[in-house]
Amino acid sequence: MAEYIATIGLEIHAHIKTASKMFDGCAAAYAGAEPNTFVSVVSLGLPGSLPVVNQRAVELAARSGLALNCTVNERSVFSRKSYPYPDLPKGYQISQYDEPLCSDGWVEIRTAAGEVRRIGIERLHIEEDTGRLVHAADDSSLIDYNRSGVPLMEIVSRPDLRTPEEARLYFEKIRQLLVWIDVNSGNLEDGALRCDANVSVRPAGQERYGAKVEVKNINSFRFVERAVAYEIQRQIRVLDGGGVVEQETRGWDELRGETVGQRTKEFAHDYRYFPEPDIPPLVLSAAWIAERRAELPELPDARRARFEAVYGLSAQDADLLTSERPIADYYEAAVAAAQAVGGSAKDVANWVLNEGFRLLKERGESAAQLAERMPPAHVATLIELVARGSINRGVARQLFEESFNSGAEPGRLVAERGLTQISDSDALVAVAREVIAANPKVVAEYRGGKVTAIQFLVGQMMRATRGQANPQVARALLEAELGSL
Ligand code: MN
Repeated sequence: MAEYIATIGLEIHAHIKTASKMFDGCAAAYAGAEPNTFVSVVSLGLPGSLPVVNQRAVELAARSGLALNCTVNERSVFSRKSYPYPDLPKGYQISQYDEPLCSDGWVEIRTAAGEVRRIGIERLHIEEDTGRLVHAADDSSLIDYNRSGVPLMEIVSRPDLRTPEEARLYFEKIRQLLVWIDVNSGNLEDGALRCDANVSVRPAGQERYGAKVEVKNINSFRFVERAVAYEIQRQIRVLDGGGVVEQETRGWDELRGETVGQRTKEFAHDYRYFPEPDIPPLVLSAAWIAERRAELPELPDARRARFEAVYGLSAQDADLLTSERPIADYYEAAVAAAQAVGGSAKDVANWVLNEGFRLLKERGESAAQLAERMPPAHVATLIELVARGSINRGVARQLFEESFNSGAEPGRLVAERGLTQISDSDALVAVAREVIAANPKVVAEYRGGKVTAIQFLVGQMMRATRGQANPQVARALLEAELGSL
C-alpha cells in the first residue's frame, strides 16, 4: 500500500459582533429571535434599496486581520457573488473577491506532541450572511431572514494543515483569538462560527495536489477533526482501489460518522463575480490602520510567554491561564492582591487552576463569572490565612468553595465559625491519645514497621477536630506518643 500525504485548508466563517447588519441599520440580533422580526428593505433585497457599509464591521474585521498577522490593505473592493437560492433574496451575496480587506497572515498552533506549527492565512474578507431555510416535515420550506445581511468575515487558511488534529487546533486557535479581541461571540451552536474543510490526498513523492474535496458547514471542533479524518481515509481507500477522487462538495453526517456527497464539479457554482456597483472601493488610510493596531490587546501567545517568564509558570499552566482573556485578567488581578500580602504567583495559579476551574466546570459557568463569584481579594485572603498558619489547606479549600458559592469573605467565615487552626500541643495531645486508644490495629501496624500507617491516624485527628488541627503538629504529637508507649 502506498504512503499518502494529506493536505488540509480551512475556510472559517465568523460573525462580526456588531449591533447592526453589514449593509444597513437593521439590528443583527438574529439568535433566538422570532423569525423575520429583524428585516429591512436592504436585507430583504427589495428593488431600489441601497447598501451602506457598516463602519464598525470594517473596524472589527481589520482588528481581526491584525490579530492574525495579516496585512490590512489600504484598498479593498466589494463584489457581487452570484447566489441563486432563496436564503439570499437579492440572488447574489455581497462579498470581496480579488481585493480582500486583509491578506497574508499566520497563526501558530501547538500539537499534543509539543510541535509548534505556523499556519498561513491567505486572506480575510468581509461579506454578508444568508438567511436560514427550515425544511418542514410536509416537504414545504420556511425561510427566516433575520440572519440575512449579518456581517461575516471569511478567513481562508493556506493548505498548511497536515492532520485532523491540526485542523481542530487551528479552528480552536481562531476562535480563541476572535473571542479574545471581542469581535465574535465564539458561539458555535448558534452558527456564529463555522468552517468548511478542504481535504486532498496524494501519494508521497507526488508534487501535484490531489483532487480537492470540500466538506461544508462544520460547527464543532470535534466534528472538524472527525470529518477530516474520515475524508482522508475515504480518499486513500479510493486511490488504493485504483479509483479517482472526484472534486466535489460533501457534508458531514455526525450520526453516521461519515461525509456524504452533495455536489460534484459538474454542478459547481459559477459565481460570476463582478465589482459591486453600489459600493465604492473601500479606501483606508495608514493612520486609520495604525489606530486599529493600537486597539489590539496583548494577544494570547504573548501573554502565555509573559506568564511563563514573569510568574515562573510551567508552559501547561500558562497555557490554561491564558485560554480565555477573563481568566488571564482574573489571574493577574489575584496575583497583584496576593503579592501585596506576601503570597506568590504560583500559589495563585494553583488555587485558580484547581479550585477555580473545578467549581466553574461543576456549575457549568463561564470564565467571565469567576471574578464575580470569587473576587481576587478573597483568593489573596485565603493564601494569607494559610501562610500565617491560621488555617490549614483543607479548611482553605472548603472556604474557597463556600466563598465561591455565597460570596462571603473568607476571613469573616474563619472568625464566625472559629475555624482557626489548632496548633497548640496542649490542646491536641488529648486528641492524639484518644485516636491511639481507639485504633489499636493501626497502631500495631505502625509498630510493626508500616510507617505510612501514621497517615491514617493524622486523618483521624483532623476528623476529630473538624479539620482544624495543624497536620504537622498532629503528626509530631502522634510520633512522640507512639514512641513513648
Ligand atoms: Mn463565504
